[in-house]
Amino acid sequence: MHEFTNPSMTKAMLNPTPQSVQPRTDRLPDPYRAEARVLAERLAALDGALDWAAVQARAEPWVRAVRENPPPFWAMERLLTEYPISSHEGLALMRLAEALLRVPDTETAIALTADQLGRADFEGASDAVIARLSSAAIALSKRWLPAEGDTPGLVARLGARSVVAATLRAVQLLGRQFVLGEDIEDALSRAEAGRRVHPTLRHSFDMLGEGARTEADAAHYLQSYRQALEAIARRADPMRHPSLNDGLSIKLSALHPRYEPAQHERVMRELVPRVWTLCERAAQASLNLTIDAEEVERLELSLDVFEALASRVAREYPLWEGLGLALQAYQTRAVELIDEVAAIARRHGVRLMCRLVKGAYWDSEIKRAQELGLPSYPVFTRKHRTDVGYLACARALLEADDVVFAQFATHNAGTIAAMLQMARQRGSTRFELQRLHGMGEGVYREVLRDVDAGCRVYAPVGAHRDLLAYLVRRLLENGANSSFVHQLADESVGMDALLESPIGRCASEDGEPAFALPARLFGAVRPNSEGLDPTVAAHRERLFDAWRQVSVPRVPEAQSGDVALAAQHAATAFDAWNHRPVAERAAILRRAADDMQAQLPPLCALLVAEARKTWPDAIAEVREAIDFLRYYATEAERLLAPVELPGPTGERNTLRLHGRGAWVCISPWNFPLAIFTGQVAAALVTGNTVLAKPAEQTPAIAQEAVRLLHAAGVPAEVLQLLHGPGETVGAALVAEPAVAGVAFTGSTPVAKAIQRALAAKDGPIVPLIAETGGVNAMLVDSSALPEQVADAVVQSAFRSAGQRCSALRLLCVHESIADGVIDMVRGAAQALVVGDPADLATDVGPLIDAEAFDGVARHLARLRTTARALLPEGEDATTHTVAPQLFEIRHVAEASQEIFGPVLQVLRWRGDPKDVIAQVNALGYGLTLGLQTRIDSRALALAAQARAGNVYVNRNTIGAVVGVQPFGGEGLSGTGPKAGGPHYLPRFCAEQTLTINTTAAGGNVALFSA
Ligand SMILES: Cc1cc2nc3c(=O)[nH]c(=O)nc-3n(C[C@H](O)[C@H](O)[C@H](O)COP(=O)(O)OP(=O)(O)OC[C@H]3O[C@@H](n4cnc5c(N)ncnc54)[C@H](O)[C@@H]3O)c2cc1C
Repeated sequence: MHEFTNPSMTKAMLNPTPQSVQPRTDRLPDPYRAEARVLAERLAALDGALDWAAVQARAEPWVRAVRENPPPFWAMERLLTEYPISSHEGLALMRLAEALLRVPDTETAIALTADQLGRADFEGASDAVIARLSSAAIALSKRWLPAEGDTPGLVARLGARSVVAATLRAVQLLGRQFVLGEDIEDALSRAEAGRRVHPTLRHSFDMLGEGARTEADAAHYLQSYRQALEAIARRADPMRHPSLNDGLSIKLSALHPRYEPAQHERVMRELVPRVWTLCERAAQASLNLTIDAEEVERLELSLDVFEALASRVAREYPLWEGLGLALQAYQTRAVELIDEVAAIARRHGVRLMCRLVKGAYWDSEIKRAQELGLPSYPVFTRKHRTDVGYLACARALLEADDVVFAQFATHNAGTIAAMLQMARQRGSTRFELQRLHGMGEGVYREVLRDVDAGCRVYAPVGAHRDLLAYLVRRLLENGANSSFVHQLADESVGMDALLESPIGRCASEDGEPAFALPARLFGAVRPNSEGLDPTVAAHRERLFDAWRQVSVPRVPEAQSGDVALAAQHAATAFDAWNHRPVAERAAILRRAADDMQAQLPPLCALLVAEARKTWPDAIAEVREAIDFLRYYATEAERLLAPVELPGPTGERNTLRLHGRGAWVCISPWNFPLAIFTGQVAAALVTGNTVLAKPAEQTPAIAQEAVRLLHAAGVPAEVLQLLHGPGETVGAALVAEPAVAGVAFTGSTPVAKAIQRALAAKDGPIVPLIAETGGVNAMLVDSSALPEQVADAVVQSAFRSAGQRCSALRLLCVHESIADGVIDMVRGAAQALVVGDPADLATDVGPLIDAEAFDGVARHLARLRTTARALLPEGEDATTHTVAPQLFEIRHVAEASQEIFGPVLQVLRWRGDPKDVIAQVNALGYGLTLGLQTRIDSRALALAAQARAGNVYVNRNTIGAVVGVQPFGGEGLSGTGPKAGGPHYLPRFCAEQTLTINTTAAGGNVALFSA
C-alpha cells in the first residue's frame, strides 16, 4: 500500500507497474561475471583446439614479408610507432585529428594548433610522407605560432596561418587513409579500381556518422544509408549470394536519437521499421547488410532489433542470407551471443551473417563501469584475453556454420592464422575475412596470396567532418602499444613476441582483472559505492521489486516545545559523544554505509516515490550518500588525530580538533538523502550532536537515513530528526541558544535569513556553512565537438528536471558554431521523455511540488516576453511537469536569476572568451562552470579566471563525486568549504592546543639524553 505524504503526488502518476518497466528478461548472461571465470570457460572451449606452433609458422612469413616490403600507407603506421598515443606527440596528433578539421574560424584553429603542437616534439620524425608533413608543420609552428594569449603581429599571423594550413593538410591526409571516398559514388569507383588489382575483393561501405542526437540527424543518416544502398544495388548482381556482392554496414545509433535500452519500446516501434526499409532494399539486391556493434549497454536491445528484423526476413525474403550482426570478442558474453544469434536463425528458419571483431570501445567500457560502480567489467581487461575470446568465438561461429556465415574481421596475423587452422580442421569454407580500409593492407596482401578465401574491406565513406569519431578510434587502435598493427610496424618487436600464443599467456596467469574493479577504485582508502545497471534485467528487477513494496510513511511534525527539548538532549549528549574515540564514530559511519549499500534498491524506490527522482538519479544519489559516510569516516580519522607541533625544548605542543556542540543541519528536497546524510555524517563524526531538519517535501527518506544511522550505533539523542516547516521548525532550531553551528543547503535568501538570525542572537558567534544556488554557465568555443556539447548540455540542464543547484542555466556558444549547436541541443531536448519518474523511460520527471511549478511558470512567462523561445511550451499544472525549455538571450546579465527547473538560456558570443567569463563572474554566483574547448591552455586560463567552485572541461557539469570533485561554490553560491572535500570537516570542529612544560616536573630529560 502506498501512502503518499506529498500532496501533489498522485498514485496515477506513480504507476507501480509502468508499461515500459514490465520485466523483460535478458537473453544473455550477466555481463559482470568474474573475468577469471569467463576466461576459464573460453580456455576450456579452446583446449586442444589449436596447434600454436603451426599457427606461428603460418603467420611468420606474412609478417616478414610486410616488414620487408611495406604497403603504401605504412608511413602512418610508422609515424604512430614513433609517436604512440601515450607520448605527447601522439596525443597531439590525435587531438588535432579529432578537432582541427571542424574548427570554422582561423583564430581558434591557430590557437588549437599552437596549443597542441607547442607541447609536441616531432623533430627527427621519420622521412615518410605524412611524417615529413607533420614534422614540417611542427617545425614551422615552433617559429610562427603564437602562445595562447599573445597578440600576434601581422607577419607572425601570416606564418601561423601557413602552419595551420600545413597541419590541416597533414590531418586530412591522415583522415584520407581511413576513408574510401567522400560520397558513395566516389567510394564505389575506388572500390572498382581496387578490384582490378584484387578481383575477389568485396566492400562493406560505412556511411560515416554515428550517434544521432536529434530526429533530424536520424532522418539524414537514414537517407544517406538509402542512397548508398541504391548505388550499391545498381552495381550488384542480385543473383549472387550476398557474400559475393558489396554491402553496407549501419549503426543503429545513427538511426534513432534515443537508441538506448531505457527506450526499448520506442526503439522497437520507431527504429525497427526504419531499419526494415534498408533490409528490404538489401534483400532485393542480395546485399550483405550488417549492423555494427556499439556499446555493451545496447547489446540486448540490438539483439531484440535484430530478431525483429530476422523474423520479418523469414516471412518476406526467406531466401535472403545477407542480414548480419557484428559481435565484439572483448565482451565477456560474446560466445553466448553467438549461440543466441544461431538460435535466432534456427527459430525463424533463416541464414544470417556474423562479423566477429575484437571491439573498438574498450576504454569507454572500462570508464562507464568505473563511473557507475558496477560489479565488474563487461570486457576483458588484458589484450591477450580478448584474443583468446576471439578464438573461442571463432570456434563457436564455425560450429554454427549451418545457419551463420562467419566474417572474421581482424588485422592480427596470429589471429588470422589460428582461425584458418580451426576452419580447416572443421572443413568449413563458409566464411570470409574482413579488414578495415587503410589498415592491415600489408598483412592481407600476404594472406590472400596464401589462402583462397573471400576478403571484404570495411570502407568508410563521408566528408571529413563526419570522420572524426571514427578517426579517433582508428588512431587509438594504431597508436596503442598493445595493438597488433602497432607492434607489426615496430621492428624492435620480435617475431616470438608478435606471434605469441594468447592461450599460453592466459594459461600462465590467474585471470584476475588487470586493474582494480570499480569497487576498489579508491584503493585501500575506502571502498567505492556500488551501483546498479538498469540495462541489465537482473539489476532492474531488484529495483522493481523494491518499487512494488515501497511505501512512503508519514513523518510526524515537530510540535511546539519539541525543538527546545531536542536541543537540551543534544547538549546533554554532546560530552559523551565528543569523547568517544574518533575511530568508534568512524566505524559507526562505515556500518551505516554498508547498511545503505545493502538497502540500495529500497532507498532508490523511496527516492522515486517521495522525491520524484528518476531511477538513474536515485541510484546516483544513494551512492553519493554511501560515499559521504565512508569518505568522512576516513577523513575524520586523519584530521582528528593529534598533531605534534615543533617548539622549544622542554615542552610538548599538540594540536587537536574536536566537536563544537550541537549542530543544526538543514537539507533540501533535491538531494534528500545525499545532502542530508553528508551534512549529518560530517557533524557526527567530528564529535558533534545533530538536530537534523529535512526538507518539508522529503521527510521520509531522511527518517530512513536516521534509522540506519541509529541502527549502526549513533545514540538517539546524538542525532534527532525534526520535521516541519522552515519558517517554524527551521527558524526555532536556528534560534536555539545552545546551537554550536548550522549547516544549510538551500536558497540564497534563506541562507541570508539564517545568517541574520544567527547574528541577532546573543552568546557565541557560531559558524554557518551555507551551500546555495547558482547561475551556472557553460562556455563553448568553436573547437568543441557539437555532439559532446549537446550531450553535456542536455544532461546538465534537463536531468533531474533541472532541479539541481549544479544544473546548467546559461549556455554561451561561439557564434561560428552556434546555429549547429543550438539546433542539436534543441533536437536532443525534444527527444527527451517527460513524465512519470517511476518509468525507466522517463528522462525528465515532475517538479517537486505546486509551489516549485508556479515559480518556474512565472519565469517562463517572463522569458516568453523578453527572450526568443526556441522550444514549444510544455507545462502541465496537473502533473507539475515542464518539458525542457530553451530561450535565446543577448546578454549574460539577462540570466541573472536562478530558475530551478528544466529551463536553459543560450547566447552567442564572439571575441575573447575571457570577456564572457568576466560577465559570468559579474553575476555574483560561483558554483559550477562548464568549458568546452580542445585548447587545453585556454581551458586552464579560463578556469583560473572563473569565480566558480567546480569547473568541468569537456563534460557535463553535474554529478560531483565525493572525494573526487568536492562540491560547493563561492560568492552568492555559498560559504564553502566544499562538501566531500578535505577542508569540510575542520569547519565542524573546535581546535585546541595542548602545551606541556616537560621540565616542570624536574630537569629537561630530553635535552640531556639527546
Ligand atoms: C571489418 C571490420 C569491421 C569492424 N566493425 C566493428 C564494429 O562493428 N564494432 C566495433 O566495436 N569494432 C569494429 N571493428 C574494429 C575492431 O574492433 C578493431 O579493428 C579490432 O579490435 C582490431 O583487432 P585486431 O585483431 O585487428 O587487432 P589486435 O591488435 O589483435 O587487437 C586489438 C583489440 O584488442 C582489444 N584490447 C586492447 N587492449 C585491451 C586490453 N587491455 N584488454 C582487453 N582487450 C584489449 C581491443 O578491442 C582492440 O581493438 C571492425 C573491424 C573490422 C576489421
